[in-house]
Amino acid sequence: MSFKDLKINKPILRAIAEAGYDNPTLVQEKAIPLILNRNDVVVSAQTGTGKTAAFALPILQLLFDKQDTPKKGKKVKALIISPTRELALQIGENFKTYSTYTNLRSTVIYGGTSIESQKEVLKKGVDILIATPGRLLDLHKQDCVNLDYVETFVLDEADLMLDMGFVDDVKKVERLCPSSKQTLLFSATIPYKVEQLANALLEAPHRIDVTPNKTTSKNIHQLAYYVPKRNKIELCLHLLRNTIKGHIIIFRRTKFGVDKLEKTLLKNGYKVDSIHGDKSQTARQEALKRFKSKDVTILIATDVAARGIDIDALDAVVNFDLPSVPETYVHRIGRTARAGHTGVAHTFCSADEKNYIKAIQQLIQLQLDVIEDHPYPLDPKAKPIIHTSKKTGSKHKKGRKSVASKKKKKRWY
Ligand code: AMP
Repeated sequence: MSFKDLKINKPILRAIAEAGYDNPTLVQEKAIPLILNRNDVVVSAQTGTGKTAAFALPILQLLFDKQDTPKKGKKVKALIISPTRELALQIGENFKTYSTYTNLRSTVIYGGTSIESQKEVLKKGVDILIATPGRLLDLHKQDCVNLDYVETFVLDEADLMLDMGFVDDVKKVERLCPSSKQTLLFSATIPYKVEQLANALLEAPHRIDVTPNKTTSKNIHQLAYYVPKRNKIELCLHLLRNTIKGHIIIFRRTKFGVDKLEKTLLKNGYKVDSIHGDKSQTARQEALKRFKSKDVTILIATDVAARGIDIDALDAVVNFDLPSVPETYVHRIGRTARAGHTGVAHTFCSADEKNYIKAIQQLIQLQLDVIEDHPYPLDPKAKPIIHTSKKTGSKHKKGRKSVASKKKKKRWY
């Protein structure tokens, strides 16, 4: 199937061709016709599947077909709510790209930055507004944004939105829009709470499921290292020296943990950057830019800061801390092995995290490959033992020898 078959019109076709899109992805094939027919749709799809274009292209198409004359002034006709600033900016960039050859205007509004410049842009009028919920409500309270003309309301990354406690804000925003609008809900996973939200906001929605929330790509080698909490940093350094190469993301649960690991890796001479919620917007954007351009090869991140960010061709993901929600593991490791490439997910599990790993394995219906031969095992009995080889008389650590032989077997190292 081609974009032409999906009845995308010329100016948009030209822009996506220039962006290098030859054919629609699966989620685009399924979602675009439904959205063009003004249906409500619930889509279960992860970042990397092309889900942004799956809603952006039909929205642009619908607006393009019935554009206001400039005299009338622009009104917000499509509202996209995103849980984080980074995601909102990314969606905004996509809309800008796809609308290059149209007169449609879009803007992004988010917190943590000057509200005044955002007011100025809104005053001039936009057709498409991409926003984080808190800043949007602020601007609405100050009478700087009118949502009375919204025709399409998109909730992106709904599961993260709920995890971040935005459910009430989202419902408030939805009530500020006309009740007759079209609503689209996108979520990487559809847990019960997202289902409830969909039932509350959408009318007889069509459902599209392109990435069932349990699956992890066959191209990802999933490894687990049982390790005492206090030795995780040493294990990380050991693997960076010997095993993990290339462009990688290391996930930590807390902002404090991110900062601590960043300092250690910098001290050890690695080119590292980090993103988490306490960093300024500019610092986060700069870090992402450096990482995407490969000036920096290691990015340390919390889940919330990294969610949904589109980074191509990662070689490995390190789960320094295990996530308490098993679906988060699926999102994290989904950042590697994209577009048919292979990747490795290294997961560190301390004694208190064993239940998390159990839950993950249950969800993905797969046992992680346990690497026992590393220098910091959880079980003291498995510590490397130094002994003398009878044949050569050379001393070696039993554990280390196994690492070497394992390296031969496990070629993805
Ligand atoms: P998303 O899932 O929306 O974050 O998109 C993931 C990546 O796929 C982004 O870099 C998009 O620019 C890219 N993309 C989206 N649709 C297509 C397509 N039909 N062909 C090629 N690349 C695409």
